Amino acid sequence: MADFKRYLVTAALPYANGPNHIGHMAGVYIPADIYVRYQRAKKTDIKFVCGSDEHGVPITIRALKEGVSPQQIVDKYHAMIKESFEQMGISFDIYSRTSNKIHHETAAVFFKKMYDDGLFEEKETEQYYDEKAKTFLADRYIVGTCPVCGNENAYGDQCERCGSSLSPEQLINPRSTLSDAIPVKKKTKHWYFPLQNYEAWLKEWILEGHKEWKNNVYGQCKSWLDNGLQSRAMTRDSNWGVKVPLPGAEGKVLYVWFDAPIGYISATKELTDQWADYWCKEDTRLIHFIGKDNIVFHCIIFPAMLRAHGGFVLPDNVPANEFLNIEGDKVSTSRNWAVWVHEYLKDFPGCEDVLRYVLCANAPETKDNDFNWKDFQERNNSELVAIFGNFVNRVFVLIHKLCGGKVPKLHEDILDETDRTIMREIESAKAKVESGLEQFKFRDALFEVIDLSRKGNKYLQEKEPWKKAGQLEAGSPSAAEGLPKAQRESGVNQKLIDNCLHLSLQLTANLAILINPFLPFTARKLLHIMKVVDKILDWENAGKLKLLSVGYSLRAPELLFRKIEDAEVVAQVEKLKAGLVKPEVGSQKSEISPQTSDLKPQIQYDDFAKLDLRVGTILSVEKVEKADKLLKLEVDLGFEKRIIVSGIALHFKPEDLIGKQVVIVANLAPRKLKGVESNGMILSAEDENGKLYLINPEEIINPGAGIS
Ligand SMILES: [Zn+2]
Repeated sequence: MADFKRYLVTAALPYANGPNHIGHMAGVYIPADIYVRYQRAKKTDIKFVCGSDEHGVPITIRALKEGVSPQQIVDKYHAMIKESFEQMGISFDIYSRTSNKIHHETAAVFFKKMYDDGLFEEKETEQYYDEKAKTFLADRYIVGTCPVCGNENAYGDQCERCGSSLSPEQLINPRSTLSDAIPVKKKTKHWYFPLQNYEAWLKEWILEGHKEWKNNVYGQCKSWLDNGLQSRAMTRDSNWGVKVPLPGAEGKVLYVWFDAPIGYISATKELTDQWADYWCKEDTRLIHFIGKDNIVFHCIIFPAMLRAHGGFVLPDNVPANEFLNIEGDKVSTSRNWAVWVHEYLKDFPGCEDVLRYVLCANAPETKDNDFNWKDFQERNNSELVAIFGNFVNRVFVLIHKLCGGKVPKLHEDILDETDRTIMREIESAKAKVESGLEQFKFRDALFEVIDLSRKGNKYLQEKEPWKKAGQLEAGSPSAAEGLPKAQRESGVNQKLIDNCLHLSLQLTANLAILINPFLPFTARKLLHIMKVVDKILDWENAGKLKLLSVGYSLRAPELLFRKIEDAEVVAQVEKLKAGLVKPEVGSQKSEISPQTSDLKPQIQYDDFAKLDLRVGTILSVEKVEKADKLLKLEVDLGFEKRIIVSGIALHFKPEDLIGKQVVIVANLAPRKLKGVESNGMILSAEDENGKLYLINPEEIINPGAGIS
């Protein structure tokens, strides 16, 4: 690894059209914060920047729906997001926003330099225009009938019913969502960034130069690069965003994905006059923490922009996480299937670290993972309370009862093998935790910290200092209560007690240092009880056995964590289910709502008899390039094998489908989806939450069997 002088860590800019949920925290902000707190404890020169992404079409749409201005929308959510980050202890050096003047200037200058260097392609195309609203219509502003499935409310970029990705031109009977007007085609000019010009360089830089990137990140980059890159428009027709800084470009703004990552630069500028040290010096290590949906922007488009512009460092690593599901189902903000951070903070005051703990222990580091409230309760009660909290509490209680509340001496002459083992464990924990942190394996690192407290408990259990105090009731520290030290037999027993508690206390101080990046509130509580200053949390102190001086008096113990009761988690699950937004009748989703009023018009038997429905067995499944929602399936119909393209990729894993039987509309005219010819349709049922279920015979039967 290169010898870096300073670090710059960015966390994905949250989109300011809604509050943040725990999926965001687990995927991006908690891992980034852990990493930064660890580096700060190591005295690394590091800056941690983030801010709200306040441009883009969804914000203008939300403003329109709520009847307010886009600025009012972003003001509301920026404040909300910022506050919940602060309360969760996410320790940004700056949390800025892209509607700031400094950002508009920085992004405009960046664009202008690329323009002046001749790096854009200027293209005039025809796009839909709403003559009533006097505006060009972004994809999401146009609805029409899906050419694939007939859904009358498909968007200009995608049909949410069948999953086909569309362009506005493909919609039948397009109409504007702004005015219901029929849009007309009008010429408009935009600036395109020819990504293909950077393809060879990107291949070398990522595929050869960054083999150490996480598998999920490297794999996604490779797939994009193998598919070939194309020019992408970097401007849009809109009045909300960073204005294109060129004459004659009125009514045009920078594409939100062009300006958003420049927001990292603007935020650094706002933070420090030395911003250029962090962005332009080759000995800076730039790390982007993001979720998997942002990989292409942070690993391909933004680096290509930085490279094209020149003068900036490139990311050295992009440790993207996968997604966190909730109670077994995908997070959906539109369906309100999410655990919102601001609501958690209200429902569980003082439990910020519990959420940090559970989200880190369960982080989707290598694959999508699930958060459920039962597991939240269990991790709290059986790990934080029963292991970490229990050890620390026993140590402080025993010190007050058996050592007068002061740090006891260490009598080296009588140290035994058990003592030496725990001393070695304390000394070696640092390297184990570090190894996880350096490799962005935060779950492993956290496990090592908890494991050290587990070993502490075992040590106390073996040593039983309360017994040596003459109180023979095993396992009951309280039995020694009220016995002044002087009344106990002086000599060997007291020395043994001293040694055990001295080492347990040094272990506790080590726990404070090691847990600090993960659970900063807990680390501070420990400092308070030990009556020591923040300085002790310096990473170089980890592994040391003389952190607390003999004779120093400690404060009375306080519980670090409380038990979480069944009723609390039951209430959360109920709240989640009660808050679930059902698709509205009459809205664009009405066609999937199980309302009898949505029945299609009556047909005659002859109409039905025209359908040739057959049972097929799925032989192989692969993803369709550049179509997130489509799968290409080879299906055995007994008499022949067919290729069928189906919009079910978000609902089923390819490997789970192989060998399954399905029902096929076998005489549907072939059609091309993303360049692949599909010969038939697979039937599935959709529940009120939009989840798909395949239809199949009760038992496996011969493929090709007819259905009537
Ligand atoms: Zn469709």
